[in-house]
Amino acid sequence: MAERVIPLVDHRTAPLPTPRTSSPAPAGTLLDARGRPLRDLRISVTDRCNFRCSYCMPKEIFDNAYEYLPHSALLSFEEITRLARLFVAHGVHKLRLTGGEPLLRKGIETLIGQLAALRTPAGDKPDITLTTNASLLARKARSLREAGLDRVTVSLDGLDDAVFRRMNDVDFPVADVLAGIEAAQHAGLSPVKVNMVVKRGTNDSQILPMARHFRGTGVVLRFIEYMDVGATNGWRMDEVLPSADVIRLLQTEFPLVPLGATAEGETAERWGYAGPDGRHDPTLGEVGVISSVTQAFCGDCNRARLSMDGKLFLCLFAGQGYDLRALMRGDGRGGVPDADIEAAIAAIWQGRTDHYSELRASLPADAAQGMRRVEMSYIGG
Ligand code: SAM
Ligand code: SF4
Ligand code: SF4
Repeated sequence: MAERVIPLVDHRTAPLPTPRTSSPAPAGTLLDARGRPLRDLRISVTDRCNFRCSYCMPKEIFDNAYEYLPHSALLSFEEITRLARLFVAHGVHKLRLTGGEPLLRKGIETLIGQLAALRTPAGDKPDITLTTNASLLARKARSLREAGLDRVTVSLDGLDDAVFRRMNDVDFPVADVLAGIEAAQHAGLSPVKVNMVVKRGTNDSQILPMARHFRGTGVVLRFIEYMDVGATNGWRMDEVLPSADVIRLLQTEFPLVPLGATAEGETAERWGYAGPDGRHDPTLGEVGVISSVTQAFCGDCNRARLSMDGKLFLCLFAGQGYDLRALMRGDGRGGVPDADIEAAIAAIWQGRTDHYSELRASLPADAAQGMRRVEMSYIGG
């Protein structure tokens, strides 16, 4: 029988760059080779998930025979907190927990508690958020909040139960996700954001129902263009519905006005629901679109991603990560002190040139498709 190759991760690890100076950059001033600051660290805490969204973990690949990482390969909470502390010292002020499904990681509240005790060089608590499919949110929202979580982003790809069950491909009911969103709002994890990945011909029928449902509820709904991440989802450009079309569709029913960005490096373009006077009515709230395919936002991309096994990726479309776990654990030779890890983080970020989304348009389609890329379920989006 032919051996099946599962292209989850490119296991080549990038060699760690040599620190540029003997002393790391001063706290909070780290810029990459394109002048972009490091502000946002996404931490993937597990490679497991109880959903099989076809655009992320298609069933045919992530089946019963699929080998997940052993627990010993995962960073411990202490290792994650140690790295997060060093990133926060370098200017990161937002930590996002993701996965796989982060709420499947046992004791996640303990990790959140440890991260919530960190302080930026200015003495502030970093913003701590989490992206989840919400399957466990109804029962966990309160304990997450009590542990120190600030906000949640819920992924939800439709309101129609049949469409949603098809999208998650494990027959999970939409009612349970809606209960999770409500529990998060009650627990004060607000404003709750809801992300919907739009696949043309699969769930675009859900755009207007989702907008009708969440308008005026305090939930910020965002439509994400289906992306060519990883190598397993069989991505095709004709399944991408451009954000401009989403906005046009929304405007057939709701007058919208453009809003400015609220945060540096924000990926969503924000639109406010207008009231009868044609101005944004804050009680009706806002929607957003994330145009990762049709409108590159690499210019102010300030995000780094840490995989559950301790590799640092500088771009969603990177094929290689830098092995910080090996530095910390020393692969049996004893780990290195904080100062060395800090210097490595600084050198890695200072050498960063990634801007895949800007290049995508100019790459021949087969070149873009053929590139080895890390899976979304490994670095968490
Ligand atoms: N399991 C959690 C969840 O779904 O919210 C966290 C991990 S998931 C990988 C993070 C985000 O990536 C989700 O919002 C998901 O919709 C998004 N995502 C995954 N694959 C994608 C793709 N091909 N295009 C666009 N977004 C994608
Ligand atoms: Fe799981 Fe999230 Fe990927 Fe869906 S998008 S398969 S919920 S990790
Ligand atoms: Fe950032 Fe890479 Fe996405 Fe560009 S393609 S916005 S550099 S993650």
